[in-house]
Amino acid sequence: MNFHILTLFPDMVVDALNTGILGKAVAKGIIGLDGVDIRDFSHNRHRKVDDYTYGGGAGLLMQAQPIYEAVQSVQERLPKKARVIYMTPQGRVFTQEMASGFSREDDLILLCGHYEGIDERVLEECATDFVSIGDYVLSGGEIPAMVLVDTVSRLVPGVLHNEVSAETDSFQNGLLEYPQYSRPEEWHGRQVPQVLLSGDHAKVDEWRLAESLERTRERRPDLYKAWLKEHPPAPVKRRKRKADGEK
Ligand code: SAM
Repeated sequence: MNFHILTLFPDMVVDALNTGILGKAVAKGIIGLDGVDIRDFSHNRHRKVDDYTYGGGAGLLMQAQPIYEAVQSVQERLPKKARVIYMTPQGRVFTQEMASGFSREDDLILLCGHYEGIDERVLEECATDFVSIGDYVLSGGEIPAMVLVDTVSRLVPGVLHNEVSAETDSFQNGLLEYPQYSRPEEWHGRQVPQVLLSGDHAKVDEWRLAESLERTRERRPDLYKAWLKEHPPAPVKRRKRKADGEK
């Protein structure tokens, strides 16, 4: 899967992503990181890509033309038109479920804004998705794009190995993950829960689900409520009360 990241800082984005698990996936050719410098598409001799906003107000805006040409330059290289995701605080808040959908694409184009954002007209023509990483404002789209690339890559087959599995991660089944422990069995007087040392896999699974549910109920009541709606508890069968004198 290839990520084409349109940005004013391609080196920063590619260097930061090309490390650890993701770096290994890039080396194996499972993930491609293509940093596209929007300034390369400026027609200005100073490589300027921003200008004042119409209607007044403070701040500069990224202009439509360099972004349009940058997007086209990537689309022309691809066998089929890719989705163009504009990272913006005005987008849908990014979730694991959205990441899972994106991980099925062969190519994704990510657009990183700066200053006051991007001229609306090029977004109308090119953007297919608007994604936010949360209800707060960063100064550029690079960190949001890195969040998306990292999250989506983990779900691409072959990127993770057994030592790190996405299947049991938080949000995969709508719950937060259960607590985890490694060696030693006792640390600062705190014991690893006995059930995890028992070798009884059914009991371990049961404990993990119970811990997951409890942790989600405590920390994310919104998720817990949604999970209960999807998994209503089985009705308890009540025994019929016997009439007085009946045996
Ligand atoms: N004036 C814009 C607004 O109020 O919606 C905010 C512009 S912000 C300072 C500059 C750029 O940072 C945006 O164009 C976007 O690419 C990126 N950005 C900022 N916050 C973001 C968020 N929460 N999620 C995704 N991208 C964000």
